[in-house]
Amino acid sequence: MLDHPAPAAASLDFDWQAADAAHHLHPFSDHKSLHQGKVRIITSANGVYLTDDANHRILDGMAGLWCVAVGYGRHELVDAAARQMQTLPFYNTFFKTATRPVIALADRLTAMAPGDLNHAFFASSGSEAVDTALRMARTYWITKGQPAKRVIIGREYGYHGSTTLGAAAGGMVDMHRQGAALPDFAHVMPPYWYGYGGQMSLDEFGLYAARQLEDKIREIGAGNIAAFIGEPIQGAGGVIIPPDTYWPEINRICRDNDILLIADEVICGFGRTGRMFGSETFGITPDLMTLAKGITSGYIPLSAVLVGDRVADVLINDTGEFYHGFTYSGHPVACAVALANLDIIEREGLVARAAASGIRLREKLHAALDDQPIVGEIRGTGLIGAIELTADKRTRRFFDKRGRVGTLCRDHCFANDLVMRAVRDTMVFSPPLTITDDEIDELVARATSAIKATQADVQSEIL
Ligand code: PMP
Repeated sequence: MLDHPAPAAASLDFDWQAADAAHHLHPFSDHKSLHQGKVRIITSANGVYLTDDANHRILDGMAGLWCVAVGYGRHELVDAAARQMQTLPFYNTFFKTATRPVIALADRLTAMAPGDLNHAFFASSGSEAVDTALRMARTYWITKGQPAKRVIIGREYGYHGSTTLGAAAGGMVDMHRQGAALPDFAHVMPPYWYGYGGQMSLDEFGLYAARQLEDKIREIGAGNIAAFIGEPIQGAGGVIIPPDTYWPEINRICRDNDILLIADEVICGFGRTGRMFGSETFGITPDLMTLAKGITSGYIPLSAVLVGDRVADVLINDTGEFYHGFTYSGHPVACAVALANLDIIEREGLVARAAASGIRLREKLHAALDDQPIVGEIRGTGLIGAIELTADKRTRRFFDKRGRVGTLCRDHCFANDLVMRAVRDTMVFSPPLTITDDEIDELVARATSAIKATQADVQSEIL
């Protein structure tokens, strides 16, 4: 493993907790309550395990934030970054210049991608990629002389990042309430059968949920709509896996109404769903695709928008200058790491492995947890999945104060040295694609004891 030297300012008795509380604003955190407890300081990692400053070995069931596809401690990626830093640490791609790593990555990604996604634009985060895709969609219609087509339709519980455009496209109302609700954004129901499916079969509900988009288009008018954006599987919204009927119907509705389709593959891309792209798993035919996270396995920030021929032809031939880009668009070090990361994914067959490991993981979870009263559903595709905790298994009733039981369970996981995330009362997981069978058994054992402890908490409160 690599050495982890302490920052120069820090002496041995430096109070990391106090300094964190005093000076560090965490993302998506309630600061007051965060610092009433202890922040866990992660100091190193290897494979699927994190180590904290109290020397706990923690199984990372979330691959960081859905991103560390190839696992931690991969020297190949470190070497690729070091080599590129020594040769050319940075040069921009704005003014008639390019670097070899960015060209190689554009070439490789567009060859891998499904359909006619033959062009790549680079940025550093998923949010920036989404922002870029939305700007491209609107610019496409402006260029075509239809500037009224500017509404973006997303979905409730959708997550498309935290820039203002991305947050407006997403369906997280708490984000909208903090200044991220914009005009010309609309939202439709997610294909969340467990929550909204009622008595419908999965297939019936998939069509029903897709047709909510058709209703919304009628309400707004297709002449006012630029694009529909959706994650193949809604990750941050609680790993909402659409029924098989959903995406083909969304394809049809977008095509029939002349609306661009943006697949936000920031989580699903690069093998997470058991195919290279979630669009392949679900039969989505996007005009634009956003990628991040697994593109470098999180070792360095990088994102991309893949652009299909229909949009690219207009942007290239008719728009003139596209007034958009970032200093680090196509950063050579990030692109070099991405290329090395794709080498690992391909050489180690991690996409097929994710599919097989996912099946094994779900079998084990069912065997361990199906008889637990609070476990309402276990679902997953490839190595992304969720366990719905429920107040009533039979009726799929949610707990009254939503999120409380999920938080309890997440804390039990943490106490068991397992990272699983709670979204409302849904426990979600997406371990590194490299997770071994033994590690899957360990994940299941730790999750089971956390869920049993949660079950005991719920029961003791009821009794
Ligand atoms: N889109 C999706 C589907 C995501 O899951 C995320 C992040 N979880 C983003 C966009 C935003 O990515 P980032 O946090 O890198 O900006």
